[in-house]
Amino acid sequence: MKFKDFSEGGGNRKDMAKVIETRGISKRFGGITAVNSLDFHVEEKEIVGLIGPNGAGKTTVFNLIMGVLRQDSGDIIFNGTNINNYPTHKRVKIGIARTYQIPKPLKEWTIFENIRISMIPDGIKSIRRIGGREEDIRRIAKETGLTEYLEKYPDELPIGALRRLELARALANDPKLILIDEAFAGMTKEEIDVISELLKKKRKEGMSFIIIDHNLEALANIVDRVIVIHLGRKLAEGKLQEIIKKEDVKKAYLGE
Ligand code: ATP
Repeated sequence: MKFKDFSEGGGNRKDMAKVIETRGISKRFGGITAVNSLDFHVEEKEIVGLIGPNGAGKTTVFNLIMGVLRQDSGDIIFNGTNINNYPTHKRVKIGIARTYQIPKPLKEWTIFENIRISMIPDGIKSIRRIGGREEDIRRIAKETGLTEYLEKYPDELPIGALRRLELARALANDPKLILIDEAFAGMTKEEIDVISELLKKKRKEGMSFIIIDHNLEALANIVDRVIVIHLGRKLAEGKLQEIIKKEDVKKAYLGE
């Protein structure tokens, strides 16, 4: 495969702060070590692809960062703070958001309400949102191409739009970091382009992303860097274009 390098993360990377860092995190399920002494970090205004064959441990890494699961050992640092003991809601509050592989909309509510409910009513934000809340919802809907669906219910949306709703809900709190599980699955080429442009715009505005996806061609258009994991360990890290040429990476994928 041949990829063009479209990555355009902000400027001089040496000056960038780490948004998230994992130090030697491990997670076992019975006899399986799903994540094994994993170290990685993501910088401000960086889009990082987390790739690897099925069962590599990618979703478990997301669950550890969100605090849905707790690591058996190691540390997770967000914006310089150790968040090991933070419950999920506190992690959301300090600026971490995620989307799910299988969209999880609230089926009884309209798309407008789905986005609204995702906004946390905390002090400063709700003051800022007096009178502006609806405006924020409409802005997010526009950014994610959901304006035409705002009054509809999740059951009435095609899968691509449901995936965009996942992203809209993640954006609702203006997070610093978004974890995107299967960003592009079920999307048309046009939808992938719309989402890619949106992620690039958000990167420019200061957000960081970790994206799990099997569509390497789509990832190549947006990621600054990829981390390959295999059997819970980091196998390789760097530019996607270079990484996929490595023999051990090819072998891990072909061995699926
Ligand atoms: P995929 O690309 O297929 O989604 P993945 O890279 O996200 O895979 P994980 O879902 O993180 O991989 O799974 C890593 C390993 O941990 C697998 O062997 C999986 O079976 C195991 N695993 C994950 N969650 C659990 C759990 N709750 N209980 C037991 N084993 C689990």
